[in-house]
Amino acid sequence: MSLIVQKFGGSSVRDTEHLFNVARIITETYDAGNDVVVVVSAQGDTTDDLIAKAYEITNRPEGREMDALLATGEQISASLLAMAIKKLGYRAISLTGWQAGFLTDSNHNKARIRRVNKERIENELDKKNIVIVTGFQGLNRYDDITTLGRGGSDTSAVALAAVLKANRCQIFTDVTGIYTADPRLVKTAVKLDEITYDEMLELASLGAQVLHNRSVEMAKKYNVKLEVLSSLERVPGTVVKEVCKMEKMLIKGVAKDDNVARISLVGLPDKPGTAFRVFSLMASHKINVDIILQSVGREGTKDITFTVAQKDRAEAVEALEEIAPSLGITKIAADDDITKVSIVGAGMESNPGVAARMFEALGEANINIHMISTSEIKISVLIDKELGEKAVIAIHNAFEV
Ligand code: ASP
Ligand code: MG
Repeated sequence: MSLIVQKFGGSSVRDTEHLFNVARIITETYDAGNDVVVVVSAQGDTTDDLIAKAYEITNRPEGREMDALLATGEQISASLLAMAIKKLGYRAISLTGWQAGFLTDSNHNKARIRRVNKERIENELDKKNIVIVTGFQGLNRYDDITTLGRGGSDTSAVALAAVLKANRCQIFTDVTGIYTADPRLVKTAVKLDEITYDEMLELASLGAQVLHNRSVEMAKKYNVKLEVLSSLERVPGTVVKEVCKMEKMLIKGVAKDDNVARISLVGLPDKPGTAFRVFSLMASHKINVDIILQSVGREGTKDITFTVAQKDRAEAVEALEEIAPSLGITKIAADDDITKVSIVGAGMESNPGVAARMFEALGEANINIHMISTSEIKISVLIDKELGEKAVIAIHNAFEV
């Protein structure tokens, strides 16, 4: 007998009709002879609405109370879904994150899962229940409610699949899978049958907002076979796993990430230790630095330009301003009129023509590249923000992915 974990996102459970649709998917899976554990998100825009309510009261809501508030969204959908399944004539029970055994650290609003005690869920499965678990929440060691951060229900589902040794973890959403580019932007984008964890991680962090990044990291770590599929269109989705079949398709996708800010430091001393001081400062502020470019400046100086997430821009500049005098930085400039466009695909490093083809496509589209970075499985360029969509289309066409 196999065990399947199914996770349903907020749009899939947004109202009664959708809840019954989901209940039917679950009961069909159960009827096919599987044990089923379900993880649900809050209905529709519930989480956004709860956040808005908190901000009506204070613009500095405390982390602990925020978690107590946000966790209720998933409790609504879990209990309603259990009712719907029972209404169809099946046994079901809803469990909150803590009833289901989720223990986390104490970082409110972005807690990490420490462990999952699976006894309760296993008992319920033994009683032939379909088990519905609230996503994105747990308890810390003080018995306070914590949540895992926006989009965290994916991670709850993968954690359950890992501890229960599920045969598969299906993530149901409102798209039919992972595409080679945003299908709203690129008409010729196609759905991928499969993709590796590493490729998925790159696409997710590059702005393809289908799966919570942490869920993919965890799936990779515990070798959980993931499938992303639609709860409305009953067609096969995209499987995320360790290795894919021999690929005829080298490039898995083209992604655009608008959430970047560029910081330029002018007039740094051209001597050892300079870059270390700049980037250890960023690290001490827990600011992730992405693309870095160093170039020769005027009169024995050098310039360093790098990118950070937009939310970190102000803090980065502030910290740099403090060390600017001692480091001899003459100018700090920051802007976010840029976007990062990337191609992702395993095997890129052994195919030297890939970068050339990408740059050729950009050149032909008359798009200037400001910065470039490459890794084993991706090539990213930084370009002007207003050219982002044009670049994605041009690159996608060039690779005929
Ligand atoms: N309801 C939470 C959110 O909207 C968690 C989730 O959906 O995964 O972010
Ligand atoms: Mg979500």
